[in-house]
Amino acid sequence: RAKNAGGNTFRFHKAEMQQRVSRVLQLENALHRALRNDELLLHFQPQLQLTSNAVIGCEALIRWQHPEMGLLSPAEFIPIAEESRLILPMGDWVLQAAASQCKAWQQAGLPPIVMAVNVSALQFSQPDFAQRVDRVLQITGLDACWLEIELTESVMAEDPERVIVTIQQLHGLGVRLSIDDFGTGYSSLAYLKRFSIHKLKIDQSFVRDLMTGTHSASIAEAIISMSRSLGLSTIAEGIETQEQAQWLTGRGCDQGQGYLFSKPMPAAQFQHWFGAKSQQP
Ligand code: C2E
Ligand code: MG
Ligand code: MG
Ligand code: MG
Repeated sequence: RAKNAGGNTFRFHKAEMQQRVSRVLQLENALHRALRNDELLLHFQPQLQLTSNAVIGCEALIRWQHPEMGLLSPAEFIPIAEESRLILPMGDWVLQAAASQCKAWQQAGLPPIVMAVNVSALQFSQPDFAQRVDRVLQITGLDACWLEIELTESVMAEDPERVIVTIQQLHGLGVRLSIDDFGTGYSSLAYLKRFSIHKLKIDQSFVRDLMTGTHSASIAEAIISMSRSLGLSTIAEGIETQEQAQWLTGRGCDQGQGYLFSKPMPAAQFQHWFGAKSQQP
């Protein structure tokens, strides 16, 4: 980068910025098209009871099958979707697709499991969010008890009064609620008591460093014991090794999710995997 050329540097930055803006606009346009053309899809990752290894749920994780760029992960397009508010129609699509998949598996004779769906703060703060969820349940015929909404701590930083109303409405519908990436954000412990949350998800950064002598083990242990004393269940995400699973089970963590058990899978593969697993004695 040129040091002693103020004017040029400015032009350089300007060009760079224009490039970035046009890339974002391009992706944003492509994302509009993706929503219309069915380019979005869900992968599903199993959630297991750690003591029995029984599958009790799965998490729906969005992917974008881009015609030229291939399969894109959420990190590559969720930020653009949020900035452009496309996350709202996209979030509606995810809810509908996940609920209808959950119902379809039940109808196919698989043991019923909970479907966990990620909801962004912007989506959750829509005044009619609970009605939207209710409509999806009506349309798909899924019983509310099989749907779990994963919130992040950032939701709590929005308008707390509105958040409380929405949480109560969802609770009234019989939908379950969990807090994703717990321990990484705005962790007010007060809201855990005030809000009707069912489950805390220990963030994968703590799980990853569990065995490496950092503070992560102490933090994970504190989350588990707090969760238990509040009567919530706990799930650890990002479990990759047997040692991590054993450590967590030993400290009373109820559930786990991670590559040790399975990566997220397309619907057909999940159904095959789960079907085979539920046949085992
Ligand atoms: P998340 O909800 O915390 O999801 C967990 C992420 O960890 C997923 O990444 C999953 O594939 C990955 N993961 C699972 N097990 C392991 C493991 O053992 N090791 C490692 N290293 N990673 C593991 P993914 O699918 O790329 O999703 C990233 C994030 O994108 C999600 O984090 C969530 O915040 C967001 N996201 C995904 N789908 C949706 C959606 O439908 N709506 C919204 N608003 N956000 C979504
Ligand atoms: Mg999640
Ligand atoms: Mg998470
Ligand atoms: Mg995460």
